[in-house]
Amino acid sequence: MKALVTGGAGFIGSHLCDLLLARGHEVICLDNFSTGSDENIRHLSNNARFRLLRHDVTVPLQAEADEIFNLACPASPVHYQRIPIETTKACVYGAINMLDLACASGAKILQASTSEVYGDPQVHPQTEAYWGHVNPIGPRSCYDEGKRCAEALFFDYRRRSQLPIKVVRIFNTYGPRMHPSDGRVVSNFIVQALRNDPITIYGDGSHTRSFCYVDDLVEAMAGMMATPDDFIAPVNIGNPMEVTILELAELVLGIVGGKSKIEFKPLPEDDPQQRQPDIGLARSALGWSPRVALEDGLGETVRYFRGLIN
Ligand code: NAD
Ligand code: UDP
Repeated sequence: MKALVTGGAGFIGSHLCDLLLARGHEVICLDNFSTGSDENIRHLSNNARFRLLRHDVTVPLQAEADEIFNLACPASPVHYQRIPIETTKACVYGAINMLDLACASGAKILQASTSEVYGDPQVHPQTEAYWGHVNPIGPRSCYDEGKRCAEALFFDYRRRSQLPIKVVRIFNTYGPRMHPSDGRVVSNFIVQALRNDPITIYGDGSHTRSFCYVDDLVEAMAGMMATPDDFIAPVNIGNPMEVTILELAELVLGIVGGKSKIEFKPLPEDDPQQRQPDIGLARSALGWSPRVALEDGLGETVRYFRGLIN
């Protein structure tokens, strides 16, 4: 089985490459290294079944693959808001190019979609049936609408060509290999705590997220790809354990120790107030549910960042 992983040098993509190689796949890792890193895949460089392709997903590609996992896209608000037009292009042109490649090579294709398709949700927890509440013109729109357009493209290709498509809506995921300057909340809090810097809570910390450990997520992505070709429903993947951002800060401080104080900063525009996946469909269709408790996953992630920072 030959798998193409776009965004394979990123945080999630590199863990997915590891899992697929461990299961005996050949893996082509495609990345333009805009937010990814050589470090994430260096350990794979001597693996005869691993190949790195420096390529931008917005440029059409000819390749052979049985499975395409399409992850290439900046994912942290800090990064996608720095390059919003490139982000929309990565979502939309990237989806078109990978869907065309899937048609040409007869591959199954999986889209790494996101809980952001639900925007600032008015339904809680979020089920796949919810159509979302997204600002089409705000600072998060390049990502949210880009990912929504990618989903639309997947379903149009399906209707036109009967392509075996898979869409996973990934909720906040964390773990080793997040970049220290990624800007997302888990890496920020851990790096700040390890450096004894102030922990920056945006808003009053009462808003929520539900955090999934990366090992659980990539298991679900592989499980989704293995579902029958006629199973095309989008599936939420995440850990339903919901915490406030203040609770997350206290958890991280409890694990790291140190002298950091909490500092409250303004909440960014359009920041969703609450987020929790309903994973009923993932449980029934994939037989999957997350195994790693937040405290344990944070412990592993802190260990990783200690190695980088100390
Ligand atoms: P990441 O930034 O670590 O990884 C993204 C990877 O894509 C990087 O290696 C980057 O260099 C690469 N990339 C970006 N634009 C590209 C382009 N035009 N061509 C080729 N490569 C490109 O982020 P991540 O957290 O690993 O996210 C991976 C995927 O999962 C993204 O599609 C993201 O939207 C999705 N996702 C992640 C989360 C999360 O919590 N981490 C949540 C929902 C969805
Ligand atoms: N956040 C925070 N401090 C930080 C980084 C983020 O309080 O240093 C907040 C952010 O405003 C959001 C939540 O944490 O409410 C999750 O942010 P992240 O960027 O990780 O993911 P997303 O907003 O895309 O869910």
